[in-house]
Amino acid sequence: MQKKIMLSGITATGKLTLANYIGAIKNMVKLQDDYENYIFIADLHALTLPIEPETLNQNRKNIFALFRACGIDIEKTTLFFQSDVMEHGLMNWLILTNTTIGELSRMTQFKDKSSKIKTANGMETIPTGLLMYPTLMVGDILLYNADIIPVGIDQKQHVELTRNLAIRLNNKFKTNFKIPEPYIPEVGAKIMSLVEPTKKMSKSDKNAKASIYLLDNPDEAYQKIMKAVTDSEGKIYISDEKPGIKNLLTIYSALANISLNEAEKIFANKNYAELKSQTAQLVKDLLIRIQEKYNFYINNVENESKIGAEKAQKFANINLKKLMKGLGLNNESK
Ligand code: ATP
Ligand code: MG
Repeated sequence: MQKKIMLSGITATGKLTLANYIGAIKNMVKLQDDYENYIFIADLHALTLPIEPETLNQNRKNIFALFRACGIDIEKTTLFFQSDVMEHGLMNWLILTNTTIGELSRMTQFKDKSSKIKTANGMETIPTGLLMYPTLMVGDILLYNADIIPVGIDQKQHVELTRNLAIRLNNKFKTNFKIPEPYIPEVGAKIMSLVEPTKKMSKSDKNAKASIYLLDNPDEAYQKIMKAVTDSEGKIYISDEKPGIKNLLTIYSALANISLNEAEKIFANKNYAELKSQTAQLVKDLLIRIQEKYNFYINNVENESKIGAEKAQKFANINLKKLMKGLGLNNESK
């Protein structure tokens, strides 16, 4: 039987965090054997908000090598840079001409990110790319006709939009795109900021203390966990009223490969310092393991990404042509 197709990407907006590892990469590595996999570094998505060319260039290479260091195997997974496959740009245009401004401006991510940069002159300061982010993502998914998309909760809405668009295009233009399913991890779907635990950990967060970066010095990462914001109650149990403690338990359980409830039991009669130091040790060990491999893979990015781009492009071109034909953009007679 033919394997189902899994697709996922990470934007090259910053340095990869522990949240990206727990919420996305760890699952991708687990799913590699069961699916035909396409994983890309979303460097076109990274242009959504202004970014220095030098920074973008560093980020994309680091992320490629980190994927390899975290266990993505290029024998099993087509790993590539989004901008190496030109089909993504054209696909975005074809998709966005089938959406409305209303539908895109209702997306939570757009509302969150645009509200942070909106000033007195309103729309003037909001980059168009922020509104179009989801259509580029819909195109990414449909280009590989993916069945399953491993994402954190923050991206679920964009996968839902993709499902709606696939159905819309199939009905209107007789394209037979598959309707993709989001795949959300049971533990670690939302890792929170270490300084403001009601906010998610994000690689684009300006405060370096809020996140553990996979390339952080392992001892400094240990200290960041030790200093994570908690509460003053002193008791360890899972509650939405205790987001700092819940976050530490979540990180611990994800890295120890146990459930959140099991982690709660382990620490039930312990103090915050113990929860912090045991979690910090797991984080430190993880970073040491990843960074050893990273130093090897960073030198192979150019060669390995070429192989990935060639494979991806063949597949993407077939699906792009399918939609172009549906829209009437072809020269063959009937
Ligand atoms: P940005 O701040 O640029 O949006 P990000 O850290 O949110 O960066 P993305 O590139 O948007 O990262 O997402 C990469 C993957 O990591 C996605 O699958 C996303 O769902 C997942 N992810 C992002 N943040 C978290 C989080 N806090 N907890 C769990 N998973 C997350
Ligand atoms: Mg994000």
